[in-house]
Amino acid sequence: MFGESCAGEEPSMIAASAKGAVVYRYKHSLYLNITNECTNDCVFCVRKFTRGIGGYDLWLQSEASADVIFRELSKELDGVTDEEIVFCGYGEPLIRLDTILEVTGEVKKSHPNIKLRVNTNGQAKLLYPTRNVAKELKDAGVDSISISMNAENSKKYFEMCRPKFGRATYEKIIEFIKECKEHIPEVRVSVVGGYANIVECERIANELGVGFKVR
Ligand code: SF4
Repeated sequence: MFGESCAGEEPSMIAASAKGAVVYRYKHSLYLNITNECTNDCVFCVRKFTRGIGGYDLWLQSEASADVIFRELSKELDGVTDEEIVFCGYGEPLIRLDTILEVTGEVKKSHPNIKLRVNTNGQAKLLYPTRNVAKELKDAGVDSISISMNAENSKKYFEMCRPKFGRATYEKIIEFIKECKEHIPEVRVSVVGGYANIVECERIANELGVGFKVR
């Protein structure tokens, strides 16, 4: 999701040519761009300003199946043992939770030492109220999760991220962060510099016992 991590990490990726890229590289990681759907409409979303980053067009013509994603990813994994794979693109990846679980399972089978991370807007409890998404991700093999907290309170989050789930969204994100901490080995929250009260957000992250990043 282009906000957590990607929207905030300014484009300095190596060039590539594919239109609607499903797989793209950034520094030492491989990124998977699996959807353009999102439950937010953040004021800072990079999708408002450009079709992609670093030469990659990230507007997908259609969503690839788990099989196609894994096949495209596999082309990049020959001889690779230590790269990180990140579900993060021009949309919210957890909208396709089952695809993430399937691709993660396949990667862990073929490359057990490769780490997988999900970058998310943290709205899993609203997307899947009857599922324990954090546990499902962990059971599939996800090693870390980065959640866009983006604000120090509900009012600010609502104004900045304009979530389709309404004003209660922020509280559900905090619940999800706590749930992730119970299950996923590495949990980090992030905020976009220049928008949130960084000091207060870091205090909340510390209170939650998770990592913190300004992007
Ligand atoms: S959460 Fe959605 S709208 Fe917000 S920055 Fe990420 S992709 Fe863009």
